[in-house]
Amino acid sequence: MSNHQKGWLDFDRRHLWHPYTSMTEPMPVFPVVSASGVRLRLEDGRELIDGMASWWSAIHGYNHPRLNAALHRQIDRMSHVMFGGLTHPPAVALGRKLVDLTPAALQHVFFSDSGSVAVEVAMKMAIQFWYSQGRPQKHRLLTIRNGYHGDTFGAMSVCDPDTGMHQIWSGLLQQHLFAAAPQCRFDEEWNPQEINGLQRLVEQHHQELSAIILEPIVQGAGGMRFYHPQYLREVRALCDQYELLLIADEIATGFGRSGKLFACEHAGIAPDILCLGKALTGGTMTLAATLATTRVAEGLSQGEPGVFMHGPTFMGNPLACAVASASIDLLLESDWSGQVSGIAAGLEAGLAPCRKLPQVADVRVLGAIGVVEMKEPVDMAQIQAQFVEQGVWVRPFGKLVYVMPPYVINEQDLDRLSGAICRVVEQQSNA
Ligand SMILES: *Cc1c(COP(=O)(O)O)cnc(C)c1O
Repeated sequence: MSNHQKGWLDFDRRHLWHPYTSMTEPMPVFPVVSASGVRLRLEDGRELIDGMASWWSAIHGYNHPRLNAALHRQIDRMSHVMFGGLTHPPAVALGRKLVDLTPAALQHVFFSDSGSVAVEVAMKMAIQFWYSQGRPQKHRLLTIRNGYHGDTFGAMSVCDPDTGMHQIWSGLLQQHLFAAAPQCRFDEEWNPQEINGLQRLVEQHHQELSAIILEPIVQGAGGMRFYHPQYLREVRALCDQYELLLIADEIATGFGRSGKLFACEHAGIAPDILCLGKALTGGTMTLAATLATTRVAEGLSQGEPGVFMHGPTFMGNPLACAVASASIDLLLESDWSGQVSGIAAGLEAGLAPCRKLPQVADVRVLGAIGVVEMKEPVDMAQIQAQFVEQGVWVRPFGKLVYVMPPYVINEQDLDRLSGAICRVVEQQSNA
């Protein structure tokens, strides 16, 4: 290791927080200096095949010339102006695309800076909607266990109380309602009993409930679970019957990851409020959006206060909007659906050997998402180093070793990625 490298890594270790890490016992981090296609290049020259798409976001791979060109074009005009009292072509162009791509009823777009904020905005919209309808008592939310919706306080309050990484805050968070997570897997036969628990909560509490919030079909960071589309249809029906709004958090699933452009399409339902983020800019800039139906948008604009009470400084950032439009164009021009089903088939075949390992509890694949659930939690620092040794970038958490590679990954790289997972999983101590 050169002195130069030691110097900056040392600074990082002493001064910079990384996600979910300690400042006294920081986990090792790997210095990356550039990235291109599906490869991350480390400072020492090693290249890693990326299995994470930088947490669901880099769907086209890194350093894509079309996305770079869009950024350059916009940065030479203006990288940012405030959205209060001003507007600009990149925001309007992106807004049009989002309104066109999503279910017809979703006509109104609120831009924000990150997924967690998009969730805060969605929750505020739901609560303000009922307030404006003269029903302020409808201010609680109902969700399902094993969910993950972000790290800010409102979002934390609807994350799984156990797996949601936010247990220590429980006394400070607003108390929302939790139904059991759906157990019926995506491709199993539907079990009509599945909905009973949630239905009972709705029946008991609908007078005080504004909305149900959930991740459609794919529960991400709260457990990497794929559940049955009928569950989502039943939730939609209950929302209609009991006057609740449905908030779909598609921050992880949006833009093709689950095999449909949006995961709600597996169930053929439309939410009243939709959260997007992560892959929205193809992994280049931080941007999120909350879309609402006309009923919600007009409803919450009635009465007092008459305006939606939110407005981030970097709302509708032109640079982020410009690259998001380019990313969506690129996606729609590509054979993303073929790529995603190719990845699904490759992961099914490539991860199949894990099923036989004594360390493994379950292997599951949906769209371009592959999960190996271990029987015991992994040793993060150790397993991460083992993956890097194998030339791949995979970042497990808890019992979950999972990948969601960029859609552009080729067959050979995908084979190397799954092969590395099988080898590394086999190296873990036996349960
Ligand atoms: C990542 C994620 C969020 C939070 O997004 P950030 O950009 O990290 O704030 C919210 N909901 C879901 C489903 C996510 O996967």
